Amino acid sequence: MSIRRITGNVYELNLGKSNAFLIDDEKLTLIDTGEPDSTGLILELLQSIGRGPDDLKNILLTHSHPDHSGSAADLKAITGAKVYMHAAEKKWVEAGYVPKPEQPYFTGMVNRLIYRMFIRDAPGSITPCRIDHLVEDGDWLPIGGGIQAVHVPGHSKGQLAFFFPGAKNVLFAADTCDNLFGLGYSTFYEDFPTGERSLEKLATFDFDVACFGHGKSIMRGAGAKFSRKFIGHHHHSGAHPHPKATVVAGDGQEKVSAPETKI
Ligand SMILES: [Zn+2]
Ligand SMILES: [Zn+2]
Repeated sequence: MSIRRITGNVYELNLGKSNAFLIDDEKLTLIDTGEPDSTGLILELLQSIGRGPDDLKNILLTHSHPDHSGSAADLKAITGAKVYMHAAEKKWVEAGYVPKPEQPYFTGMVNRLIYRMFIRDAPGSITPCRIDHLVEDGDWLPIGGGIQAVHVPGHSKGQLAFFFPGAKNVLFAADTCDNLFGLGYSTFYEDFPTGERSLEKLATFDFDVACFGHGKSIMRGAGAKFSRKFIGHHHHSGAHPHPKATVVAGDGQEKVSAPETKI
């Protein structure tokens, strides 16, 4: 459990089972809230950088899974922060119960085992939390000079990543992938081909730093790592490469052309 500054105004909060992130633009914005009962820990970490509950104004939820939305209700009650998320998963957070996928997809045996050991039988219940603002793909939110929501379904249908340009461009990748054993696929997907398309979409953004729901942030060269790892690799789905991005293999280096349509 720790907090560390990863760019001028972004902090990574390691909450044990998952990460949350803090954007400091005088007011504070929290991205994700950890599992249920993380509120005390999050407020302690804020206090360690000299900030109090009243400073927290916004909570962005990347998706409904309890390890991310679990403490949203308590934090909102204590701080009065407004909660933002995508419409597709709002009903579960508001109902206080997040169902597991009927047929989760795993990219390998290790992920299948992790799911069986830690996720399959974990409770889906959280304290119900009312959502204040619905966020759609491409929306720019007036936080920290502007942060863009990117709809990235696949791991879950309403998942949002966030692109945050600044002195260093930061991508908050949520659970589209993780960095637990190096950059790799997430533990499970509801819909893997859709998840792959979401990763290709993220790889078209220009970012240096990447932040994950699980695993340490990548501090430099993250966009190039996403391109190498996730573009044009369809071992599992057999789908065709994403039409908007082209992989150009040169002298051992992969380069990705700009997408035809600016996202
Ligand atoms: Zn998740
Ligand atoms: Zn997660």
